Amino acid sequence: MARILILGGTTEARQLAGRLATRPDLAVTLSLAGRTMTPALQPVPVRLGGFGGSQGLADHLAAARIDVLVDATHPYAATISANAARAAALAKVPLVALRRPAWTAVAGDRWIEVADTTGAVAALGAAPCRVFLALGRQEIAPFAAAPQHRYLVRSVDPIDSPLDVPDAVYITGRGPFAETDERALLAQHRIDIIVAKNSGGSATYGKIAAARALGLAVVLLRRPALPQVAAVETVEDAVAAIDHALAPAMARGV
Ligand code: NAP
Repeated sequence: MARILILGGTTEARQLAGRLATRPDLAVTLSLAGRTMTPALQPVPVRLGGFGGSQGLADHLAAARIDVLVDATHPYAATISANAARAAALAKVPLVALRRPAWTAVAGDRWIEVADTTGAVAALGAAPCRVFLALGRQEIAPFAAAPQHRYLVRSVDPIDSPLDVPDAVYITGRGPFAETDERALLAQHRIDIIVAKNSGGSATYGKIAAARALGLAVVLLRRPALPQVAAVETVEDAVAAIDHALAPAMARGV
């Protein structure tokens, strides 16, 4: 059996694992950073937590005799993607990168693209407004620098360190989020502006479509630079790329 390690934390990683789980010729493990308290159920065995940088991951690839490494991590998880590229080269293991395409603006979108959360705080401006922060719970701290705004914060797990601002509301939720529900949420909280990542995919696009329908501005954090490696954009193509990468090993009778 060929051994596949999927670096996950995304819907696509789970879908890919589901596709590969039925294959009798493959032993698949999914690796999660362990950020969420109640991770989604996965169709293959899961390992949790970091490897200790690129060398740690390279050592793991060798020790677990991994035949193909799949980087199906979140587009903003740049460190693990860089580590995956370095580790695959160090351990001489083929790498398949599954990269979710970014959203692109369409007519009616009012996007303000910024480099990072500090840029997002500046983009909100000085006048008090009602802000929907659709960011990870580890990313909201910089908004304490703009306490004049009212914040609606949505995260997968409850926020452990609330923002030091006078007016913030915290809700939890895990996608997918439908556009109609997002519109209702934005209307209920009378949101003026959204801060979000350009995650791509359909699961979290509802708020972008809802903002367009309501004429709201969206402050979008630009995607971080990722290593220049050959990449595919769909689960289907990832399966094909894995099979292609495995062909020499299969020929050797692995
Ligand atoms: P990161 O900055 O790329 O990774 C930081 C470290 O976490 C890595 O160096 C690695 O530790 C460990 N790690 C990350 N993904 C891993 C995986 N799949 N398996 C094992 N270890 C993993 O990523 P991040 O800190 O998790 O998040 C950065 C951004 O991505 C945030 O904006 C976050 O909201 C977004 N995001 C991440 C995930 C996710 O699953 N990681 C999911 C959704 C969104 P070692 O160096 O020790 O190996």
